[in-house]
Amino acid sequence: MGKVYLVGAGPGDPELLTVKAARILGQANIVLHDSLVGREVLQLISPQAQIIDVGKRCGMKLLTQDEINALLISYAASHQTVVRLKGGDPSVFGRAGEELEALRKSRVAFEIVPGVTAALSAAAAAGISLTDRRAASQILITTFSRGKNANAMEWSAVTSTTTLAIYMPGSDYAEVSGWLREGGLPDDMPCVIVSQALSSTQQIRWSSVAALAREAKLPAPALLIVGRVATQNFEEIVANVWRGDAFSGAAEIPTVS
Ligand code: SAH
Repeated sequence: MGKVYLVGAGPGDPELLTVKAARILGQANIVLHDSLVGREVLQLISPQAQIIDVGKRCGMKLLTQDEINALLISYAASHQTVVRLKGGDPSVFGRAGEELEALRKSRVAFEIVPGVTAALSAAAAAGISLTDRRAASQILITTFSRGKNANAMEWSAVTSTTTLAIYMPGSDYAEVSGWLREGGLPDDMPCVIVSQALSSTQQIRWSSVAALAREAKLPAPALLIVGRVATQNFEEIVANVWRGDAFSGAAEIPTVS
């Protein structure tokens, strides 16, 4: 019996892989990867390894999650090192939960190798700090994907010191803008869209919750960061109270000394 490694590929730059991820790719017998994984990362895979793109159309149909789970289990029976390679980190919007459950049920040994998730890549690309002791004390990782119940959000947990990292913000920013406003975020709360973070084609668009509705779509993959830290204007970050802080969910606004 072999072992299945759930490996985070990070944003695409092979220098942003962990040393462990690079070593395991070099030792892999078989790699199942998503379409988000960068080409340069794939080049680190052992030349002897079989590489399967499970994010691509296989004939006429995409592999279902159940089929991917079944493949991982059957490959582990005949291969020493099976790698499930995912963009960013496997545990963030990567369906790792279903794979881990299947592996556990089949008693297949596994290990998770974390990667740099898109929220961190986007913050680095934009040159902002996701937390700031003057303005942001929590980060909420969420998505605006329109899957069943996906938009259910506990808005009362969002305060004026929350930084929202919104994965899959959709192609129509008016929709996500409306969702944020309905949630109680003030129109002038800053936000930034980061497209293809940390790649040569990266694009950054500074905006605000209301102005977001009028922004032109940036190429996928893109991530939206919302909060007082999502600005290049440092005076806004340290402002004691956010301009017109009408935040329905606002709990406590930290005092700046
Ligand atoms: N497991 C991945 C996320 C997969 S969901 C991770 O941890 O990063 C796919 C979403 O991630 C995209 O819709 C986009 O919102 C975000 N994303 C992935 N790569 C990105 C990149 N290079 N730049 C900006 N957003 C990215």
